[in-house]
Amino acid sequence: MALIRCPLCKAENADGPACRRCKADLSLLFDLEEQRTWTVAEAWRLLAAGQLPEANWQAQVADWMRRDGESLRLFALTRLLRSDFAGAWICYQTLASLTSASGSNR
Ligand SMILES: [Zn+2]
Repeated sequence: MALIRCPLCKAENADGPACRRCKADLSLLFDLEEQRTWTVAEAWRLLAAGQLPEANWQAQVADWMRRDGESLRLFALTRLLRSDFAGAWICYQTLASLTSASGSNR
């Protein structure tokens, strides 16, 4: 699971529901991250089952919840498999700008 950054003190938190530094309640952020993890897994399951429109939707939702390299690659893949080449290209360009801006693969 991804680290949750506290919106108050900016501390990275691996465990919740309270921030390790300032004790702010981060339970909603942890719930959202858990939902995103489920959504990514559901997108992969739907992809494996050949349900491309549904997989594409779940990938889009996961990317909306929190964008990172994983969600963008998944979203690009579901778009490619649906022959949405322009959409896949946009995902690729967004991923390239994300990785060059952060200097990492996140
Ligand atoms: Zn905090």
